[in-house]
Amino acid sequence: MGKTICIANQKGGVGKTTTAINLSASIAIAEMSTLLIDIDPQANATSGLGFSPNEKGNIYDVMIQRIRIDKAVRKTAIPYLYMVPSTHDLIGAEVELVGMEAREFVLRDILKRIKDRFSYIILDCPPSLGLLTINALTCSDSVLIPLQCEYYALEGLSQLFKTIGIIRSTLNSTLEIEGILLTMFDSRNNLCRQVAEEVRRHFRKKVFNTIIPRNVRLSESPSYGKPVILYDATCRGAVSYLELAKEIISNERKRGDQ
Ligand code: ATP
Ligand code: MG
Repeated sequence: MGKTICIANQKGGVGKTTTAINLSASIAIAEMSTLLIDIDPQANATSGLGFSPNEKGNIYDVMIQRIRIDKAVRKTAIPYLYMVPSTHDLIGAEVELVGMEAREFVLRDILKRIKDRFSYIILDCPPSLGLLTINALTCSDSVLIPLQCEYYALEGLSQLFKTIGIIRSTLNSTLEIEGILLTMFDSRNNLCRQVAEEVRRHFRKKVFNTIIPRNVRLSESPSYGKPVILYDATCRGAVSYLELAKEIISNERKRGDQ
């Protein structure tokens, strides 16, 4: 049975999409079947993997028009990596979902049908705590929270944890925190180092050992429609996302052994 991880933080531009694309690609490189689902109307993960946000057979068609999810799953340039793209139309889904019965469970019911075909399903969330993110948190086994190493990093985190608490007590009692991921880390920057130390002091074991450095290759690769591993496999960004994948897979094995 596959594990579903959603990448969420309602703060914009913290590295959610970069993490969703490159973590999925890195897990797939380990020959584990991985499905990346873009549930952000900005469709950055979609274009970042070289797909058009204007094609039929996307997550909007699956969630709102109720086409079968198999019809929206695409192969990618990486064997073992599959994707369900998003579309800008998804912006309307927040409103369209409101009137639906069991609106928080739409994605969970859809994923039930394909969960056992994949080792990992990764969801890239929009920067909000609206119904799309709530659907993602409701259908996921765990949530990965990217945190940019900057002064306001912790702002809004209490709201996110409050939301996760509400989801646990109402819609998904087994939702775990996969971990907090420090992103865009610059070791030459004092403030960046202080923020990283403070986050570790405060959240301790919840913080991944792997830190994602600020790396220009990571910001360039989406414009080529590629995960960084196909753009520059030896850059620090690519290596750090491979390490993150290793850390997540080994944490999962440890949990399995317990
Ligand atoms: P949004 O909230 O809008 O969905 P996001 O949280 O998904 O944003 P990204 O799109 O992943 O954030 O990253 C924001 C910007 O920072 C992008 O231009 C991305 O290329 C760049 N970026 C992300 N991570 C890194 C990194 N480690 N090094 C350098 N640039 C990065
Ligand atoms: Mg994004």
